[in-house]
Amino acid sequence: MTTTEPPTRTGSGDPRAGGSREHHLSALFETVLTRGPLSRRDVARSTGLSPALVTKLVRPMLHHGYLVEQDPEGGVPGRPQIPLAIDPDRHYAVGLKLMNSEIVGVVVDLQAQVQSSHRLKFDDHSLAGGLAAIEETTRVLLDRCPVPDGRLLGVGIGLGGHVNGPAGVLHRSPFFDWREVPLRQLVSERLGLPVVIENDVNTLAVAEQWFGAGSAFPSFLVVTVGTGIGCALVLDGRLWHGASGIAGEFGHVIVAPDGPECHCGKRGCLESVAGDEAIVRAVADAGGPRITRVSQVATLAHAGDPVARRAFTQAGAALGRAIATLLNLVNPPLLILSGEGLAASDLFIDALREEVERSAFSTAARDCTLLVRPQPDENWARGAAATMLRHGVLSSLRTLTDAAAG
Ligand SMILES: [Zn+2]
Repeated sequence: MTTTEPPTRTGSGDPRAGGSREHHLSALFETVLTRGPLSRRDVARSTGLSPALVTKLVRPMLHHGYLVEQDPEGGVPGRPQIPLAIDPDRHYAVGLKLMNSEIVGVVVDLQAQVQSSHRLKFDDHSLAGGLAAIEETTRVLLDRCPVPDGRLLGVGIGLGGHVNGPAGVLHRSPFFDWREVPLRQLVSERLGLPVVIENDVNTLAVAEQWFGAGSAFPSFLVVTVGTGIGCALVLDGRLWHGASGIAGEFGHVIVAPDGPECHCGKRGCLESVAGDEAIVRAVADAGGPRITRVSQVATLAHAGDPVARRAFTQAGAALGRAIATLLNLVNPPLLILSGEGLAASDLFIDALREEVERSAFSTAARDCTLLVRPQPDENWARGAAATMLRHGVLSSLRTLTDAAAG
């Protein structure tokens, strides 16, 4: 496994190029969004679509204002190439990262550039309390960044737990005692706006896919470490949800059947062996000082305490073994490691890498670039907003498709 800068995209075309007109429009839009401004010829090259088809698809997108033409470039004898770009003012979206006692929110334009942001602390963990906090954050954000009528696509919400994004249902959350909640509908009714909900690691993956290291790759994984351990899978350009949104529940893969009890009710989940709690517990089990927070273990480890250092290297090794399994299953060219646990990455990353190299099959480790990327909460919220943008834009493009077919 290498740890260099993000490599550039290799190979030609985009697998999304195959399929319906809607998929073609979507691939075209995302290509211009993530790599634009691009000429029609470069869009054709990047998407694998024919130049004639690109010209045909671009026409309604220009007409409806999703794309704009910039001043022509010179350089090509004969016909100048006109760069196509996204019109950032065409649409806006709100994105929220819902955490234990805090919401971080942003408003973004259609290029997912942050226009305003806000943090709100809240104590009421009831569903009513959560809904009120979501409403309050959204109101403050839109007060600070008024969006013209008809241009706000809606609100994207990312939160931890078993979230069935396509169905709009929160099945369970580690932070709240909310079970089987139709959260999308409840928030949408309360705000009077379209809403999408998504597992928070998935929103981070969308952020990476649209404006991060993942934009150069059709397939990649995001693994987050910290209190919880999560994973998101982007496969051939699509965020993979599985049958009910459980895809990527990496933290609850059982790696030690006789291991410690996990908050999910099972024993020996990766999260209970390599998450923050496990690191704190390892110090207590070894007779170390009574401490409660992983940051305290990190302080001890940085001061040279061998018990604290071992707690981190054991967690890193367990995580590395589990990541090797992911590499064997998916064989991704890129794995992005993120999450608040990276604050102490210097204490476990070498152990993690060694174990990945040792455990992965054949060339799976060598084939994969491991990027260590701490991300501020605002970027998770930005990913939630991008999830809403994608949903809203694809719905609009579907309308264009229907109009063209009718
Ligand atoms: Zn578990």
